[in-house]
Amino acid sequence: MFNTLESKFETLFHTKEHHNFFAPGRINLIGEHTDYNGGYVFPCAITLGTYAVASKREDTKLMLYSENFSADGVVECDSTDLTHSTTYTWTNYVKGMILYLKEAGYTIRTGANIVFYGNIPNGSGLSSSASFELLIGVIFKGLYQLDIEMIDLVKLGKKVENDFIGVQSGIMDQFAVGMGKENHAIRLDCQTLEYTLVPVDLKDNVIVIMNTNKRRELADSKYNERFNETRQALKELQTRVSIQTLADLTIDIFEANKDVLSSEVLVKRARHAVSENQRTIEATEKLRAGDLVGFGELMKQSHLSTELDYEVTGKELDTLVHTAWEQEGVIGARMTGAGFGGCAIAIVQKDKVDAFQQAVEDVYVKEIGYKPSFYIAEISNGAALKQ
Ligand code: ADP
Ligand code: MG
Repeated sequence: MFNTLESKFETLFHTKEHHNFFAPGRINLIGEHTDYNGGYVFPCAITLGTYAVASKREDTKLMLYSENFSADGVVECDSTDLTHSTTYTWTNYVKGMILYLKEAGYTIRTGANIVFYGNIPNGSGLSSSASFELLIGVIFKGLYQLDIEMIDLVKLGKKVENDFIGVQSGIMDQFAVGMGKENHAIRLDCQTLEYTLVPVDLKDNVIVIMNTNKRRELADSKYNERFNETRQALKELQTRVSIQTLADLTIDIFEANKDVLSSEVLVKRARHAVSENQRTIEATEKLRAGDLVGFGELMKQSHLSTELDYEVTGKELDTLVHTAWEQEGVIGARMTGAGFGGCAIAIVQKDKVDAFQQAVEDVYVKEIGYKPSFYIAEISNGAALKQ
């Protein structure tokens, strides 16, 4: 990958001097819609990601080229004028990251030449944006030898997403992309940022990512709706039990007190938040014990909970996941990310992957009318300088 990008870099900038950088994308193995309910998430960084070849400049110009937006050509910005751009919106991630690094007191005196390429499908829930943010973080840390910890780049990445781009997401994506470790998943408490790295030994299996290729139109408004519903459920439960978040409840205590909730919808939403957090804790233990089958069963329960209680899946994700469950050699499958389109994941025996993809594709095309996409991912290290 870097060879092609290096040639492009040399052609565009007429210099051979450069450094290479990579930032992964991410999937969430289990623990969906738990982050804003005080619970755990369980993501890992993946080998699909964003690559860059970059060098420092003598002047303050930022010369930016992305193979993913090749029609834009080299976009020229200036590191002393980091205002939001409405024309080349992808450059806002670069500007935002540099702006917040500077605001945090790090010295970036000059500009840079950078060539980017990412193989994460944009906007499908694998977090190409967090990958891009952290990539820029490690580029500027590397080029300017900034004395900054990864966790602080992670926080700045989230700030870019929230304040510069305007997407109100939690810290999971940037955390997984920055702190990921090869063959490990991260059990993370998004409030305290307390985390545990859990080894993932997939044995003869691989993770297959299945993309619905559906546009995630309703995602934002539905996300806000679920956010408000769980806030309301928490408020009503707090009149009975002493809790700070829904994740403070065990499923038994929840069941014993759910009659306080004012509607069946709130019961379902809260039950998902409580049960999904418990599944995430159990799933960690299953993986630690090497019990992949047990882990797969929890993936299935998790999907059913997002489908029936939280109602964030939709026909496309359900078709992929239900069809996956029926195939030979499948350990488990579920949606991943916020839902309403986006991607699902399946753990599939290596020698069954081709048959698996064909079978899922056939059913999906028949039911939905267009093709899904498949990617095989391994669990990768976080964003880093490569040489
Ligand atoms: P995702 O679910 O993939 O994070 P987003 O809409 O949050 O979707 O982020 C996608 C945006 O991130 C792209 O439209 C683009 O602005 C930026 N981006 C991601 N990868 C690249 C890349 N390789 N080159 C340039 N911009 C990128
Ligand atoms: Mg994003």
